[in-house]
Amino acid sequence: MSDTPFVHPCLSCGACCATFRVSMHWSETDPNLGGVVPAELTEPLDAHQVCMRGTWAKAPRCIALDAVIGQYSRCTIHAQRPQACRLVQASWEFGRADAQCDKARAVHGLKPLTPQDWPPGTGAPAAD
Ligand code: SF4
Ligand code: SF4
Repeated sequence: MSDTPFVHPCLSCGACCATFRVSMHWSETDPNLGGVVPAELTEPLDAHQVCMRGTWAKAPRCIALDAVIGQYSRCTIHAQRPQACRLVQASWEFGRADAQCDKARAVHGLKPLTPQDWPPGTGAPAAD
């Protein structure tokens, strides 16, 4: 077994933050309603929704993303990121493939994650 410390695959990826439109109800940006997403990093989408700046584009890339896709990645507002971002799961981290993760990685020429990308003992099937 390798002694190499495990590094979470998302930290060398970032593909999902540069593939999809990241939208949310405007209340996620309103501190009076418990919202934590910085409003200045969003733009209006419709009467009820806003989206992260940069993600409503032909080649989406979130304004809050600090990354070279496939090399390193971090969300500069990790603790304040939208719910939509919290819902994306890296494939096989919780015992199953994730279609959004696989698609985003494919868009950027990255292979899908496999169960072997996770240390033994992780990847227990998520409860339905
Ligand atoms: S595409 Fe998958 S592996 Fe890459 S950052 Fe998003 S969740 Fe993580
Ligand atoms: S807010 Fe953070 S996690 Fe969400 S798309 Fe932007 S960089 Fe990615």
